Amino acid sequence: MNETPPTLTESALRGIACKCPRCGKGKIYSGFLTLRPACEACGLDFAFMDSGDGPAIFMIMIAGAIVVGAALIVEIKYQPPFWLHAALWLPLILATTLLPLRAMKSLLIALQYHHKAAPGRLIDRAPK
Ligand SMILES: [Zn+2]
Repeated sequence: MNETPPTLTESALRGIACKCPRCGKGKIYSGFLTLRPACEACGLDFAFMDSGDGPAIFMIMIAGAIVVGAALIVEIKYQPPFWLHAALWLPLILATTLLPLRAMKSLLIALQYHHKAAPGRLIDRAPK
């Protein structure tokens, strides 16, 4: 196991590859988006992983820009019938949202691990 902490680039690449953020060897998914309980290679407990709605929001923004931009360009240049718009953009919407979603979720988890992000906690300021 690598003892030195990974660089930001290493963490991001491990995330995109859907690998454990600590060792880079074990897989983090047991299903399409279901996380394993722990790393099979280094034993890192994956209970801390909580990306929430972050991956979905990023994919909605990125896919929305791609699909709407492409639809506007095609409409302005060619004015195709609406059935052709549906035939073109529905598969593109599925491809630009579902295909990168695993990597995006894993990337956000890897960055969460790299930056030691955690929910805020109140510190005890009571006089002693
Ligand atoms: Zn690991």
